[in-house]
Amino acid sequence: MDHSVKSLLEQAGGNIAAIARQWQLQNDVHAQSVEELDAYMHEVLSVMRDSAVKGMEKDLRSVRGLTGGNAYKLMEGVKAGKTAGGSLIGRMAARALAVAECNAAMGRIVAAPTAGACGILPAVLLTLQEEYGYTDDQLVNALYVAGAFGLVIAHRASISGAQGGCQAECGSAAGMAAAAIVYLKGGDAAQAADACSFALMNLLGLVCDPVKGLVEVPCVFRNVGAISIALTAADMALSGIVCPIPCDEVIDAMRQVGDALPSSLRETGEGGCAGCPSMCK
Ligand code: SF4
Repeated sequence: MDHSVKSLLEQAGGNIAAIARQWQLQNDVHAQSVEELDAYMHEVLSVMRDSAVKGMEKDLRSVRGLTGGNAYKLMEGVKAGKTAGGSLIGRMAARALAVAECNAAMGRIVAAPTAGACGILPAVLLTLQEEYGYTDDQLVNALYVAGAFGLVIAHRASISGAQGGCQAECGSAAGMAAAAIVYLKGGDAAQAADACSFALMNLLGLVCDPVKGLVEVPCVFRNVGAISIALTAADMALSGIVCPIPCDEVIDAMRQVGDALPSSLRETGEGGCAGCPSMCK
């Protein structure tokens, strides 16, 4: 199997979700048939939804107490009209925080593509469903589309912060989410690829620097930043802006940047935010 966005686009024709589902079936260990796979993906969506609810609890705290309760605060701030960004992105941001904080509190989440970046896809999909009324079947198709881009990234570069920095985790999730948004809004496969490219290039070089080695700070807050990049990347592509660099090349650049990162910025808990004096106490 040729793991490239170029190949995905050549095979997709007018239906990127169908070929993405086929790719998933070829690579999935959970299902032997399309019916089993669809059922599994609906279960995935259900876990995402539950984690977004759980993470919104006011008194939620992570095991080490570094995070928790922030999603509730943000959602309340959005509802009260205190925020500047408007309702859609505010609700999306709060859900990204919720799922990421659910993970930090040892709740059940979907690693999409990793636990550290688990808030981005659910936040985007569930909030677009709330806003535009998409069905669960449409969200599952969007998950297939996101998964196809994730598969290419995993094969050509990395989805591991320890290997490629946070660009490989939150960056990959943002690229996958951007492609999913384009799909849901009726864009074509080339636009989905451009959206993924825009998102990845905006997060290129992002380092992995978890404070105390825990997936809490800055991880949960990066999930929020990544949804805004995914959304704006998708909007550019949907408006007809063509990315001058093919998606495969951006992914390859991500691998090269990841290889060049020093070990202190690859999940060792030494550099970046982890090295800030207040975090080393
Ligand atoms: S900073 Fe590192 S551990 Fe945290 S989400 Fe990013 S890649 Fe994962």
